[in-house]
Amino acid sequence: MELVYQLVTKVLNARTFYIALYDQAQQEMYFPVRIEEGDRRPPATVPFEPDLGLTGHVIATRRPLLLNSAVEFETLSIRRSPIKILAPIESVLAVPMIARERVLGVVSVQSTARQAYTHDDLDTLSTLAQQAAIAIDSYLQGRDMPPCEEIERYLKDRSRHMVTWEEINPNYFNLAQRIEPRGLAISERVQSFDEVYSGFSEAQALQEAQRCFSCGTCPSCDNCLVFCPDAAISRVAEGRYKINYDFCKGCGICVSECPRNAISIKVLK
Ligand code: SF4
Ligand code: SF4
Repeated sequence: MELVYQLVTKVLNARTFYIALYDQAQQEMYFPVRIEEGDRRPPATVPFEPDLGLTGHVIATRRPLLLNSAVEFETLSIRRSPIKILAPIESVLAVPMIARERVLGVVSVQSTARQAYTHDDLDTLSTLAQQAAIAIDSYLQGRDMPPCEEIERYLKDRSRHMVTWEEINPNYFNLAQRIEPRGLAISERVQSFDEVYSGFSEAQALQEAQRCFSCGTCPSCDNCLVFCPDAAISRVAEGRYKINYDFCKGCGICVSECPRNAISIKVLK
């Protein structure tokens, strides 16, 4: 839980933060990590009710929530949670942690500023919540938890990774000859101070640029989305995709069909 908090603080304004775990059998919500305006609060347990607080609401609807003003909160027909947050919260992100179709809990970040979060932030928190859900589910199943440090290390390495020719899928590119810049013949060079290689014309430069593979950079070609046999990939915004790990079976087809190695997969032991 602490690691999830640490990861979230690296990417989002999380001065107010909590994780809630949902105990379906006991119909309770347990809050093991609660941070209010940077100060840690003791863990707490409250009964689960679908309209009790944002947490009950998100567990019941199984949908992420983005609120950017206290007025928006009032439009939801939910009752205030018995866990009081003293800071005047204006903006909220709250996303469910779901694994194998079960809601395991909720992760939320909150801010006293209005319009503090965007839909991109919601996607980011959803991705982290998904990973947390997988880890919690593994623990509950008695399996080894995927090591979060290993995931973090992998993501760092991946961001520094230089794509090699072997990782490119050349089937998606047409062969295009390199344009060789014209140089002066030696007999011409010895008779003038003109540049020996004058470089490309504008048209040639554009033509050369079109030969670029955009290695490792996703230009939203949708190939991964189209080829995924389980429809696990969806486009959430221009240039942004989301993988639903409840459907992904880890076949790796998205990786092999990505023309430019902009997506990767890692098997955690
Ligand atoms: S690994 Fe397979 S199932 Fe998962 S997203 Fe890629 S293509 Fe889809
Ligand atoms: S990850 Fe690869 S296959 Fe998917 S949209 Fe980006 S470039 Fe295309």
